[in-house]
Amino acid sequence: MKKLKIALIVVIILIAMGLTWATLSYNFYSPKDVNTKPDDASLKYFQESYNESREAFRTSAVLLSKKFKNTYQGSFQVPAKNDKDLTVDIFYIPAQKSKKGLIIFSSGIHGVEGYTGSAVSHMILEEFMTEENLATTGFLFIHGMNPYGFKNNRRVTENNVDLNRNSSADDVLYKTINTGYPAVIDLINPQGKVNTYSADNIFFELRAIGKIVRASMPVLRQAILQGQYQFPAGVYYGGAAAEPQIKNIAPFIKQYSTGYPFVMNIDLHTGYGERGTLHLFPNPADNKIKALTERIFKGYNIDWGDGKDFYTTTGDFPGYLEKLITGSTYIPMTFEYGTLNSQTTIGSIKSLQTTILENQGFNFGYKSDKDKIAVEKNFREMYFPSSPAWRTKVISDSRVITKIFLKQFNGL
Ligand SMILES: [Zn+2]
Repeated sequence: MKKLKIALIVVIILIAMGLTWATLSYNFYSPKDVNTKPDDASLKYFQESYNESREAFRTSAVLLSKKFKNTYQGSFQVPAKNDKDLTVDIFYIPAQKSKKGLIIFSSGIHGVEGYTGSAVSHMILEEFMTEENLATTGFLFIHGMNPYGFKNNRRVTENNVDLNRNSSADDVLYKTINTGYPAVIDLINPQGKVNTYSADNIFFELRAIGKIVRASMPVLRQAILQGQYQFPAGVYYGGAAAEPQIKNIAPFIKQYSTGYPFVMNIDLHTGYGERGTLHLFPNPADNKIKALTERIFKGYNIDWGDGKDFYTTTGDFPGYLEKLITGSTYIPMTFEYGTLNSQTTIGSIKSLQTTILENQGFNFGYKSDKDKIAVEKNFREMYFPSSPAWRTKVISDSRVITKIFLKQFNGL
């Protein structure tokens, strides 16, 4: 009888361990999808590769160049070891009657996020470039700021640089010391081949929670996400100098923003925040810019960074544009389309784990093909969900907000 009891307890413990393992294991996490009915009028804007996305963008630009006067369509190459066909593409349509405001849509700063950025840009090009909207507002579209990452499904450039931590005209940025980073370095930059079934990965969540308990979530979030300039193979590396495209975009920004009293940048991103929700992240701003931003995005919840999941970064792209645009009132805004519920503890841990494993796999390789396939799939899903419901919601939310901010921006 006693033996039976012990056996029963052992069985229960084993089942509990199995369940825990299943929940904690890297390969089992998927957030509940959004409840939106997929529609082809939205899905048609999404392409499955960098080349197709760029082609769709170029084709739209050619058509609009025939319709409106004084447009500019061009591109510049981003150098890479084995690829001569990586470009940042630019399309400018000036205000057709008088110059009041310019909206700069930039996307693909984080390569793999470029699919959605391209789709949203494509929708705006196709549905919002009308005589009426272009009367006093000009538009500058920047497609694929990080074409290497876009084409190769990485967030970073070929030099492992996060462009949204690298954007600066001042070299002082690259000497920034992130004092919190060393405390998390062993957790976020593991060495050796990726094995998603290793004890470290199965218990990643517990290890991360251990760190959270010791250092607190805001401190950790800040340490990890702010950017770092000391560890070139580590995650959130901001580089040792400005990447070529950061330098090369500057003359375009200066030239095309000239003469507009108001310039707004909308930088398109995915991956952070609640799945299927469009989050609005402005830069820290004074009261005047805050009031303008609130007016332009009337009725929207703008995340001014006083919430508990707030963190600051160095070398961000919208902040860099602010330095380049000197004669205008400048309004920076980041659109972030959430995918993995990173506002929750489990979502943020799983997002972090995917980021870490992808970087580790890139640097050290994978133990098996199964690991490689799982990590690469999860990484792409994190930044470019395959779900038609998610994609439809991105486009329909973007349509609604574009209609509002164009009207408000015109009325400034
Ligand atoms: Zn991003």
